[in-house]
Amino acid sequence: MIEIKSMVQPYKVEEVRNLTNAAYILRFRKNEIRFKPGQHLVVGLENTKGAREYSIYSGVEEPYLEILVREVEEGDVSKKLHNLFKDDRLKINGPYGFFMYNAKPLETKKFLFIATGTGIAPFHSFVRTYPEANYKVIHGIRKCDEAYERSHYKEGSYVACTSKDEKGDFHGRLTDYLKQTDLDKDLNIYLCGNSEMIVESMRILEQKGFDKSQMFTEVYF
Ligand SMILES: Cc1cc2nc3c(=O)[nH]c(=O)nc-3n(C[C@H](O)[C@H](O)[C@H](O)COP(=O)(O)OP(=O)(O)OC[C@H]3O[C@@H](n4cnc5c(N)ncnc54)[C@H](O)[C@@H]3O)c2cc1C
Repeated sequence: MIEIKSMVQPYKVEEVRNLTNAAYILRFRKNEIRFKPGQHLVVGLENTKGAREYSIYSGVEEPYLEILVREVEEGDVSKKLHNLFKDDRLKINGPYGFFMYNAKPLETKKFLFIATGTGIAPFHSFVRTYPEANYKVIHGIRKCDEAYERSHYKEGSYVACTSKDEKGDFHGRLTDYLKQTDLDKDLNIYLCGNSEMIVESMRILEQKGFDKSQMFTEVYF
């Protein structure tokens, strides 16, 4: 009898790395997936119902794929993914999306990346891929332990705005930081995370004289 082997490689978990009690990085096999920073995958457990979108956190040249996930209270998939172990199998679809497709590091003078929580994932992928790009990251988080892997960003280019402790670079909401800060006018601005922050930030940026055509958004929820 001829044995027919499947040509489809399984997406096996390589590591689950905890960053806080609720946030973790899930690393898994890359197989044939090629992507651009800013794209996302649809991730779930093999042979299990339910899958969700997650931005790719790793750089394009890295030999694995990573996503950064925060467990959502009452959430389904974000909890299940946290309980996986090495060699467990995932169901992966994608990559999808065009969020940073037009972000050209050699042609753009300076990027401003604005994120809440795990919304920093596409920007992490971008700076891992283009470490020489000229950028500033403004990260809205509750406490300083959510400044996920801040050492991966260039010295002086990452600002943690903490609303629930005073250990960040700025104590207060990200939108308060934006209001108080002078910004160059020739920025390309990318915003990612919760919709409330994105709408409020765009309003502040417009008041500061930025045009909507300079802003690009990815809404998580
Ligand atoms: C393009 C895209 C990219 C995304 N990338 C990421 C990523 O990189 N990392 C990441 O952690 N998430 C990301 N998300 C969110 C993710 O897809 C899920 O929505 C999230 O993990 C919750 O799924 P769940 O099954 O655990 O909760 P569900 O069972 O779907 O939801 C449970 C409840 O929580 C609410 N909820 C959903 N998401 C959140 C949230 N983030 N905070 C608070 N309440 C929420 C829902 O409205 C619902 O009431 C992304 C979403 C999109 C659209």
